[in-house]
Amino acid sequence: MHRLCLLLATLLTLASLPGHAAGLRFSLVQTAETKTLDAFTVEGGSWMQTAVANHMAVLIEHHAATLLFDTSLGRQVDSQFESEMPWYDKPLLQYGEVRPVRDQLEPDGVRVDRILLSHAHWDHASGLADFPEVPVWAPYAEIEFSQVAAPPAVLPSQFRHGVKWVPYDFLPNPFMGFEESLDLFGDGSLVLVPLSGHTPGSVGLFITLEDGRRFFFSGDASWRLEGFTGPREKFWISRNMVDNDRDATRAVLGQVHELIEQNPSLTVVPAHDARAQQHLAVYPNWTR
Ligand SMILES: [Zn+2]
Repeated sequence: MHRLCLLLATLLTLASLPGHAAGLRFSLVQTAETKTLDAFTVEGGSWMQTAVANHMAVLIEHHAATLLFDTSLGRQVDSQFESEMPWYDKPLLQYGEVRPVRDQLEPDGVRVDRILLSHAHWDHASGLADFPEVPVWAPYAEIEFSQVAAPPAVLPSQFRHGVKWVPYDFLPNPFMGFEESLDLFGDGSLVLVPLSGHTPGSVGLFITLEDGRRFFFSGDASWRLEGFTGPREKFWISRNMVDNDRDATRAVLGQVHELIEQNPSLTVVPAHDARAQQHLAVYPNWTR
C-alpha cells in the first residue's frame, strides 16, 4: 500500500513537471508531395539536384484536446487553386495528387477539437473548409492578413465558409529565446511563439514529449532546414513571391539559427522540408 502511494505521488509529480504531458504524441498527416529544384527552395541551392517538398499537417494528441497544426491541402484544393490562383503562378505551385487530412482521419474516428494555423497561406489553410465546426486559433494579425491578402498568397474562397476564429495574443513569457510565447495548456508541452515575417502573424510551435525530446515546427519561415543552419534566405524569386516582410523573415532566420546553436538536440521541422521530416512518424503512426 505504502509503495503504491509512493508510485502515485511520483506519477503525479511527473505529470505536473513543466514541459511534461503524459501520453502526448503527434503524427505528420501528409497530403501531397512534389519534387522541385533545390535552387528554388533556398538561396545558394543546387540547380542540378531536386528537393522533395511535402504538404502536411501535424496531428497532436494532448490529454486535454486533439489539435491540428495547419490543415494542409483539403478536399476542395483543386477548385480553390483553379479558380483563384493566377495563371502565371500555377506552374511553380503544382502539388500533385492530394490525400486531404479529413479523408485520412475520418475513417479512424479521430475528432479534432482545435486547429492552430502556422499562417494563412493557401497551402496551409486549404483544409479549413473540411473542418467548419472546429475553432481556428490564430494571432489577430494573421486573421486580418487572411482577410486583406490576395492570391497567390491567400485564396479568399478558403475562408468563405465562415471560419470560427479564436484570436489570441502572445504573453510576455520568455521561452527558448523568444521574448513572448503562449503555453496552450499551462504544462509547457505545447508552446506557440511568434515568427512574424513570412506573414504578419506567422507562428512556430514547440512540442515537448514526456521524455523531454523537443520539436520545433517552424511553418514557412524557411522552406528548408538549411535556411536556418546557414542561415540562408529563400531563393530570391520565391521569397519575393511569398515572404511578406523580408527583413523580419531574415531576423527570424537568425533567431532560429541561434536557437539551433544553443539547443543541438532540438529537432527543427520546416513545414515543407521532406528531408527534415524523414525521421518523424507519418499518420497513422505516431511520434511519442
Ligand atoms: Zn507560406
